[in-house]
Amino acid sequence: MASLGSVTRWDDEADIVIAGYGIAGAAAAIEAHDADPHADILVLEKMPEHLQGGNSRAAGQSLLISKNVEALKNYQRRMSESNPIPEDMLSAWAERMCALEPYIQERARDAGAQYIHGAGWSDRAAILEFPELGATEAVAHTATILPIPSGVWLTFKACVEKRARIRRAFESPIVDLVQDPDTLEVFGVIAVRGGKRVAIRARRAVIMATGGYENSLEMQRDYYGFASAHPFGTPGNTGDGVKILQKAGADLWHMRNQGQSGGVWPGFSYPGHPTAFMRQFFFQSFSWIDIGGTGERFCDETGEWQLTHYKQKVHGEWVDLPHQRVGRMHMLFDENTRLHNKLITNVMTWNAVAHNYEWSDDNSAEIDKGWIVKADSIGELAKAIGRDPAVVEATVRRYNDACAKGKDDEFGRRPVTLQPLAAPPYYAIEVVPAIVCTSGGGRRNIESEVLDQAGKAIPRLYEAGELGSMFSNLYQNGSYLTEAMISGRAAGGNAVRLAPSSI
Ligand SMILES: Cc1cc2nc3c(=O)[nH]c(=O)nc-3n(C[C@H](O)[C@H](O)[C@H](O)COP(=O)(O)OP(=O)(O)OC[C@H]3O[C@@H](n4cnc5c(N)ncnc54)[C@H](O)[C@@H]3O)c2cc1C
Repeated sequence: MASLGSVTRWDDEADIVIAGYGIAGAAAAIEAHDADPHADILVLEKMPEHLQGGNSRAAGQSLLISKNVEALKNYQRRMSESNPIPEDMLSAWAERMCALEPYIQERARDAGAQYIHGAGWSDRAAILEFPELGATEAVAHTATILPIPSGVWLTFKACVEKRARIRRAFESPIVDLVQDPDTLEVFGVIAVRGGKRVAIRARRAVIMATGGYENSLEMQRDYYGFASAHPFGTPGNTGDGVKILQKAGADLWHMRNQGQSGGVWPGFSYPGHPTAFMRQFFFQSFSWIDIGGTGERFCDETGEWQLTHYKQKVHGEWVDLPHQRVGRMHMLFDENTRLHNKLITNVMTWNAVAHNYEWSDDNSAEIDKGWIVKADSIGELAKAIGRDPAVVEATVRRYNDACAKGKDDEFGRRPVTLQPLAAPPYYAIEVVPAIVCTSGGGRRNIESEVLDQAGKAIPRLYEAGELGSMFSNLYQNGSYLTEAMISGRAAGGNAVRLAPSSI
């Protein structure tokens, strides 16, 4: 922390300073503004203006809508059994979740956007991740706001832009908090603007909404045990908030959840593209398999794992799929699969929605770039990707035999997906384990107050969104964005009601 004594002058000031401009930061700013239209609110965002929006912009934009407080509480309690959420927090969150839909509809109206039922990119009315734990009772439906992609983010951005008293500063990362070293009371932030450190006074409070640590390799190694990390979201989320809150005396929680709750997904990663591409999950043909470091298959590749955030049931427990611990992976496919399936999804991820990368429909441009390797036989393909041809040929033979039998004894792939690799030429693309979200951060309560190690609220310090998210272990689709709204609203509403500090 920086002490007040180290600040010789304030370079700027506002009633509320919000660090991070995703849905959590935006929801906090809107709430504070509407509760006190005279409040001066400053949002500091690390990324440049054209790369604003954080993971909120890159997300699939699904929103969880629930109408049954008890069922929702029960479901979340069971998903987080291995690291329980405090009961008082769970109850208040479930009540706020069940009252959230009108708030989301109001934001859509405010922005002139269309709120719809369903995720938009899936024909399911509700994505139910863990029915046996109570999803059917807890989830009323899934919802989103058009357009696709990024509709929910664009709505919140438009709502912020309509409110003139919310100032936004881009390329202005915060690096520290200004605090009283004894009481921990927060008086402002140290940020970097134009390469210079600046002190910004927060007359009423600071709200930390800087997202996760998906893009910090060091933190991925220390907290999650990843050797390398391939995020799908913004490059801006490097865990700054975690480090700043540690220095500020906050207790940390949820640093290492199952798959960091959002799961470890198959992705593709290339130099020059800061984050990973997400593999398509609606294939039109199935003449493809994945192989791991040994050259053999390692799971049911065509299971609908996107519906459980890449968790599978093993020995009666939901655990991460093995993508992060099978060594070097490749997806092998034939000409049918190349022709009929764009390999990536472009309804989400940073590369698709912030950099507008247009992956070719027939994958030919990516073959030309050398991202996809092509050969006339499986043996030649194996050689071209540095694999033992005999092993890979045997793997493909076993898989093709399973297709002929209509039964996958090894991994139980559904019969309808058992289509052989039989149409040359053949292709290989390297697969990397890729991350959606992290969720660890400062421990907080339902009012978004950041707690110190004794469980006491740090004065004038709030936290919202994925940084310090309340979720642990298993995760239900649409929960992160709605939690960012709930925690952002609590932070903004509580912060703006404080009297200015006396310094
Ligand atoms: C591919 C993908 C799909 C997803 N799909 C869904 C979905 O369908 N439904 C759902 O509910 N959730 C989904 N999620 C998760 C969801 O997007 C996030 O949990 C949510 O957007 C987090 O919002 P946030 O405001 O807390 O953080 P973010 O939106 O990530 O915003 C954090 C901001 O803080 C900025 N920042 C970082 N450090 C600093 C600093 N030092 N100073 C100032 N600013 C800083 C970052 O640049 C960023 O702009 C998905 C995520 C990904 C990546």
